[in-house]
Amino acid sequence: MSSTNAFSGSLFVVAAPSGAGKSTLVNALLAQEPTIKLSISTTTRAPRPGETHGKEYYFTTAEDFVARTKQGEFLEWAEVHGNYYGTSRLMVEDQMKSGTDVLLEIDWQGARQVKKLFPQAAGIFILPPSIAALEERLYKRATDEPHVITKRLLAAGGEIAHAPEFEYAIINEEFDVALSELTAIVRAARCRFAQQAARSASLFAQLGIHAE
Ligand code: GDP
Ligand code: ADP
Ligand code: 5GP
Repeated sequence: MSSTNAFSGSLFVVAAPSGAGKSTLVNALLAQEPTIKLSISTTTRAPRPGETHGKEYYFTTAEDFVARTKQGEFLEWAEVHGNYYGTSRLMVEDQMKSGTDVLLEIDWQGARQVKKLFPQAAGIFILPPSIAALEERLYKRATDEPHVITKRLLAAGGEIAHAPEFEYAIINEEFDVALSELTAIVRAARCRFAQQAARSASLFAQLGIHAE
């Protein structure tokens, strides 16, 4: 599916180096804007304590993941920190067709693939206020082994190097400020002319507004 015009829902793509606060910000956004659907990725990473199959991720084996990539099940997929992660094509296309906004929490490699398929997707990159803060947050979060944290910190610079590929950048220093910026981006994207025209097609017709 390469055409984007059939979709009236907005697509948001949020990326960040591990520990920047992406999931915390996205969860707070979804609590405020419950109509946005979060895409649940499939991953070969082992579940962290407290993570549930079907909630944070669909957890699977590398064999199963690779078989599903061959069947074209994923809209995008990538290897991140030594594990595979992929986004369900069906879920995203069905939700967007029905006018529902969809948010993807994915890495920059996946964001690039999505942008090719959906050029109108709003790309948002979450930045930490410093690398020291990133390290402190990963240790305080205490969900990963020290060697995993080291791996993620080493990867952070490479991920941040791709921030210029995104339209929006949020510096997550004060959480509430960052959340209000994320909310503002979502609301502005929904007011894009093309999104309003797709969502309110009959009103636009009554008003005599015709697409260019
Ligand atoms: P986090 O960095 O603490 O959020 O740790 P995760 O293990 O949840 O995510 C690891 C990386 O995989 C992050 O960069 C995510 O954005 C990325 N990721 C998660 N799901 C997907 C996906 O479906 N596709 C792609 N391409 N990347 C994903
Ligand atoms: P990511 O999904 O980007 O890996 P998380 O959302 O898990 O990051 O956040 C990493 C840790 O940092 C969590 O423990 C979270 O509570 C904390 N955190 C998030 N935003 C802030 C902030 N603005 N100030 C301080 N700590 C934060
Ligand atoms: P974590 O293992 O800490 O949950 O995630 C690590 C990284 O994988 C994060 O940067 C996250 O955004 C990314 N990620 C999670 N799901 C996907 C996905 O479906 N596709 C891609 N490309 N990256 C993902």
